[in-house]
Amino acid sequence: MNEKPDIKSMNITELTEFVTALGEKPFRARQLYQWMHQKLSSSIDEMTNLPLAFRETLKRESRYISLKQVQVQVSKEDGTRKYLFLLEDGNVIESVRMRYKFGNSVCISSQAGCRMACRFCASGIGGLVRGLTPSEMLEQIYRIQEDIGERVSHVVVMGTGEPLDNYENLLQFIALLCDDKGLNIGQRNLTVSTCGIVPNMRRLAEEKLQITLALSLHAPSQAKRKELMPVAGTYDMYEVLGACQYYFEQTGRRMTFEYSLLAGVNDGDEDAKALADLLKGMNCHVNLIPVNPVTEHKFRGPEPKRVLSFKNNLEKNGINVTIRREMGRDIDAACGQLRKRYVEGR
Ligand code: SAH
Repeated sequence: MNEKPDIKSMNITELTEFVTALGEKPFRARQLYQWMHQKLSSSIDEMTNLPLAFRETLKRESRYISLKQVQVQVSKEDGTRKYLFLLEDGNVIESVRMRYKFGNSVCISSQAGCRMACRFCASGIGGLVRGLTPSEMLEQIYRIQEDIGERVSHVVVMGTGEPLDNYENLLQFIALLCDDKGLNIGQRNLTVSTCGIVPNMRRLAEEKLQITLALSLHAPSQAKRKELMPVAGTYDMYEVLGACQYYFEQTGRRMTFEYSLLAGVNDGDEDAKALADLLKGMNCHVNLIPVNPVTEHKFRGPEPKRVLSFKNNLEKNGINVTIRREMGRDIDAACGQLRKRYVEGR
């Protein structure tokens, strides 16, 4: 592994130190930062207002992370685009662009692989390879914005990986993404989804950011949740819900709960009732997602009628709920499947 510094993962203070240590003036760091985070350059050679000698020094003394697009699938139904990107070390990751009325939303991966092994998810099947660097997380957005030629306005960290299992890199990524000298994405337009790593949820709360935290709940009881999500064996549901409450208290941000509906497993009216009791009085929003079938797993999504009944049950009990619109159904490669197939095919 090449250990030269990764300049795209540096904030402006770190970059200024690095650049001045190379004998350059501080304003060169600002120029370089702008090339990386506003002009979204994919190589140092593009940075034409930097002296040639400085560009050569940068190429010698640092690593310039830029992702290579190896595949893109485009939905004819709704314009959803699924990308596979190649990392420098040969790993591949996937990212998705969804088009909504309010703008372009990009779903990024936070790790190559995942160690959480949720029973219905394709991303955990091969285990964790490694956490992504801030630059690798940013680049997924930068390359997509360049590819579509439109501004990306919203980002969700809901692709492969557990973001709170890559905490330091995630925080640096957020700082760079929301920097007004970079893409300047509003914190409120960023959602981070977690399976419930309690200590890091609490740490995140104390950062007092304005990002949305989504918890993957998927079950109305600890016993059921533990069967679906091994992480519930480490942090039980009540600790997790306590951390959600703490996040709300610290940030004032309403929690989102993700609930994947698995036919015959967690989609009954009694499950809806138990879920409503569990969340009663919390300032929150529930997102229902019929599970995307994964070849290696036995789970299937319920019939639309069942989904509606589940939703009505929650609403009757005063819970805010939406059914997540399924995007890109015709290019169906749910949650980590695109990457998995590609890796297996290689
Ligand atoms: N590790 C994080 C973020 C990545 S997964 C987390 O657990 O939240 C993003 C969301 O997709 C999670 O809610 C996850 O449980 C859900 N998910 C994973 N596989 C799925 C599938 N096959 N169908 C529907 N949702 C799935």
